[in-house]
Amino acid sequence: MGMEQKTHFKVDKSKCIGCGKCVNTCSGMVLSLGKEGYPQMRDFERFGWRGCWRCQHCLAVCPTGAISIFDKEPENSLSLPPSEMGGYMEQLVLSRRSCRGYLEKNVEPQMIDRILNAMQAAPTGGNSSSVEYTVMSAIRQMILFRIPSSAATESRLTKPASTIKRQ
Ligand code: SF4
Ligand code: SF4
Repeated sequence: MGMEQKTHFKVDKSKCIGCGKCVNTCSGMVLSLGKEGYPQMRDFERFGWRGCWRCQHCLAVCPTGAISIFDKEPENSLSLPPSEMGGYMEQLVLSRRSCRGYLEKNVEPQMIDRILNAMQAAPTGGNSSSVEYTVMSAIRQMILFRIPSSAATESRLTKPASTIKRQ
């Protein structure tokens, strides 16, 4: 199976204007313009270094929305935020505080999904998104998780300092 099939990389030739922006931005340098002037993907051994990074930059930069990859379609992409968002972002970062007081109730599953969706887009090396999250969706799970870990911590702290090992 060719890499274009593995990545589901597709170019809508009716939209492509041959600008080459997708080729120039390709993190893995796997794209080039073919003889007809449309982008094509070369074969590669594996994803990551020396292959496609899964960054989706090709889709993001295309000015005409001609590229789809990994079954992501440009028409389903969010539009860019308004320019004043920069000020809000600064305000958000500067007013951020730690919070360690929580309500005794489960978080709505829809809210968790929304947060996870946003976290998928968090910055990672080369947009590779090679990060895993563990979600405890119910208070009860969280309590069961905390009990053994806090008991273990207490037991370590009550031992003489010389017996505490670094992990
Ligand atoms: S996803 Fe990234 S690395 Fe893969 S073809 Fe597109 S721009 Fe290149
Ligand atoms: S960025 Fe879009 S329009 Fe430009 S060459 Fe690539 S597919 Fe074609």
